[in-house]
Parts: sequence; C-alpha cells; structure tokens
Amino acid sequence: MMENVQKDEPVNGFGTACIHSGHIPDPNYAHVTPIYASSTFVFDTAEQGMNRFSGKEKGYIYSRWGNPSFTEAENKIAALETFGLKDDAGNPLRAKALLHASGMAALTTLFISHLKKGDKVLTHPSLYGGTNELLQKIFPSFGVEPVVMDMHDLTKVEEIIKKDTSIRMMYLETPANPTLRCVDLAANIALAKKYHLVSAVDNTFASPYLQQPFRYGTDYVFHSTTKFLNGHGTAVGGVLIGSDIEKMNSAIYKIHNLLGGNSNPFDAFLLANGIKTLEVRMERHCSNAMKVAQFLEQHPAISKVNYPGLQSHPDYAIAQKQMKHPGSMMSFELKDGLEAGKKFIDKLKVCVRAVSLGTCDTLVSHPASMTHYGVPKEQREASGITDGLIRMSVGIENVEDLLNDLDQALQ
Ligand SMILES: *Cc1c(COP(=O)(O)O)cnc(C)c1O
Repeated sequence: MMENVQKDEPVNGFGTACIHSGHIPDPNYAHVTPIYASSTFVFDTAEQGMNRFSGKEKGYIYSRWGNPSFTEAENKIAALETFGLKDDAGNPLRAKALLHASGMAALTTLFISHLKKGDKVLTHPSLYGGTNELLQKIFPSFGVEPVVMDMHDLTKVEEIIKKDTSIRMMYLETPANPTLRCVDLAANIALAKKYHLVSAVDNTFASPYLQQPFRYGTDYVFHSTTKFLNGHGTAVGGVLIGSDIEKMNSAIYKIHNLLGGNSNPFDAFLLANGIKTLEVRMERHCSNAMKVAQFLEQHPAISKVNYPGLQSHPDYAIAQKQMKHPGSMMSFELKDGLEAGKKFIDKLKVCVRAVSLGTCDTLVSHPASMTHYGVPKEQREASGITDGLIRMSVGIENVEDLLNDLDQALQ
C-alpha cells in the first residue's frame, strides 16, 4: 500500500484542489495518471518483497490491496473531504480513503469493521434503499440490528442512546432519497461523540463541495462515487473515508482486503478524472436545480415539490446551515397521481428516464416502482414515497432546455 499523500499544497480554492490534489507524478512522465491494468507488482529482490509485506518499505504488492490508479482517486477524495478543515490541535485535518467496487461494498466494510453480534446501529427512516435492505434484511442474521428513528428530535435521540447500550454506531444520510429529508449533522454527531458511538455519514447527495461531515467530527464519510464524484455515469464505485489514519491503514484496510470489494484501475481512472470538474459541475447542478424547483412549485399540475432549497421544505433550515447550496436532487408529485406521472415521464425529450443520479444529464425516475420497489408500501408511504412521486437529478444542461422540456411534458 502507498502512503497517504495529502501534501500541504499551495492551494486556496476547492476547485483547484479538485484538479491538483492527490496527483502523484508518474515515473514515465505521463501527464494524467495512467490506467495501471496490472493485478500484481514486481519485487527487485526477495528482500524487497518481504519488506513490502512487512510494511518496512512502501510499494504496491497486489491490486486487491492497492493500485496506483486507486491511490490518485483516494487521495483526491480525502483531500476534498478535509479541505480547509483543522484537527483539534489546529493543524490541517487529514483523512484516508479506501476505494471500493461499489458504494454497497464500502458500506459493508464500514459495518463489518465496527459491528459484532449483539450490536445495534442507530439510524433514520429515509435511507438509500440498498442501505436500508442491508441493515434490515442481511445484518440481523449476523446478530446486528438497526434502531430506526426520526433523528430530528434530539432529546429522543439522546434518550434512546442512553437507554440502549448495545447501540454502537450512528449512521446518517443527508440529504436523503427521495424526499430530500436532512438531519442536523452537528447536533447528532455531537451526541454520538458524547456517548462514544462510532459515527458515519453518507455524503453522496451533497458531495464534499456542498457539505463536509468531518467539520462536525464524524469518524467516517461514505460515498457512492457512482454519483456526483464520478459525475458522468461511467463507473460504479464507492469510497470509505476515515479521519483516524492509523486505523484506516490497519484494521479497516485489512477488512477491506479480506472482503474483496476492491475497485479496478479503469473505474478509478474515470473517477479521478471526473472529480477534476466537481466544483464547476456542482455550481451548475445547483443553480439549475433551484430554477427547476421554483418552476415546478408554481406549476398548476404539481401538488408538491421536495427540494431543501425551497422554504416549503421541512428541512430548509438544516440545509441552509450545513450545505453550501441545497444540491440538485428533488422529487415532486403530480396532482393527478401515478397515471399522470407515467404520462409525464414518457413525454420527456431532454430529461432521461433512468435511475441513479449525479450525471451531466438530467435523470428522472419513479421511486415507488424502481429504487424503493423492495420497501413495503406502508413503510414507503410513511417516509413520503407515494405512488405518484417522481424523482429528478437535475443535470448541467442549459436550464432553458430543461424548463421547456418539463413544461411540454406537463401539458
Ligand atoms: C447509489 C447510492 C448508494 C449505493 O451505492 P452503489 O454505488 O450503487 O453501490 C448509497 N447511498 C446513496 C445515497 C446512493 O445514492
């Protein structure tokens, strides 16, 4: 494994860090870090091999354990998640990222690293569908249970943590799919710290440009890199970032290796290059989204818009407090319900019919029949996912084209 190379670069702007951070000059002087399509790495001597295994000498060994194409993306993400932040001693905060084959693989490393039989995870109802299923259906058979509650009522959160001493981890996702509910990071993470719970935040919808959970002292940040970090919809991937570098390099690295959910050089290459435009993409994503949300909110065919940048959203204040902009994800309901929603989706000409999010193009999907199909109807409706709800990931097209497309599809 290579050292975590977060240098003190002479960089003041986040956009510059997106482009330059994490880059390691290539031994062959390639401008862009190449795709290191190699499963294994050569030792000059037996002794060198031994030294790499024992950690005496830094260097790559085998691509399940690390690869130069991964290192670039990992260092970039660690630099962005800690950009401008300080540790308790006032020094620049550092973190270590481990790239995975998918967001779900990174989550599995996180949960297996910290939870054993009898432990519980405190979380909230509006989680990503896959995370919810993993916690509800897979981990209980290993003796790990979720405790699901509305984490807006902090007095109740504290009561539950005090009462149930088997709660070991607090797991937050904000903003969350598809109603864009947000939870207060500062307040909840402070409670996790007070009661010595491990805390982790799914920062996929925000990206480090809009929100940095390490600012509030969380232990881990998680991303499905498939979304805004890659930004172009070209690769599935995930990343787990930890601020305890020692632990990331030992215990967490070990579990990551043994579970085998490693990334691959091509996807990591696409990711590292996608990240270079993160700031400019996010600015455009967010300014488009605000205009789209305002257009939809005043449209007579629409009954409700869920966008944390609108004052009508229940978590408007939380989003204002902890996000640079309210993001580019939203959902809305047509007055005439499911049938009207299907007709609307079919009439779209610029917006694309697909699940996933964070791509350059605008994606439209139907949560009840697609992403949340596996969630029972009552549970779905309790968290605001009605049959008529439509989700939209607003892209970076020229906004007039999006507004015109939505307008003609709503006729
Ligand atoms: C997509 C997504 C995941 C899962 O990531 P994969 O890359 O699909 O495995 C987890 N959380 C959120 C918020 C997501 O959008």
